[in-house]
Amino acid sequence: MEDCLFCKIVKGIIPADKVYEDENFLAFKDINPKAPVHLLIIPKKHYATINDIPDTEMEIIAEIHRVIKKLAQDFAVAESGYRILANVNREGGQVVYHVHYHLIGGRLLRG
Ligand code: 5GP
Ligand code: ZN
Repeated sequence: MEDCLFCKIVKGIIPADKVYEDENFLAFKDINPKAPVHLLIIPKKHYATINDIPDTEMEIIAEIHRVIKKLAQDFAVAESGYRILANVNREGGQVVYHVHYHLIGGRLLRG
């Protein structure tokens, strides 16, 4: 997608602090972290929201959790605990319309 911020990060047009990359996924630090660990994990393929992932491609959600699990270990929050969340559409608080999961941890999260 030409005008998508995260597609531009995938293509290297916009820089990001990358922490993981493979053929299908990319993870990088959130530019406005809400906790000591705040990572964004995205499929390289553009889907605007989770609603837009075809049922036949839904395995990417399982695979994204494989990446999340590895990053939780790498960033030493697997045992202490962390939160993963995906905002969907306006009332869900989505701002960037390219599917992404937040991995947040490193402090006690409330609410
Ligand atoms: P959303 O509300 O769409 O779930 O979250 C989008 C997230 O992307 C926000 O937490 C925001 O801080 C982050 N973000 C927005 N622009 C950039 C950017 O250019 N680089 C990085 N690394 N994160 C960004
Ligand atoms: Zn995109």
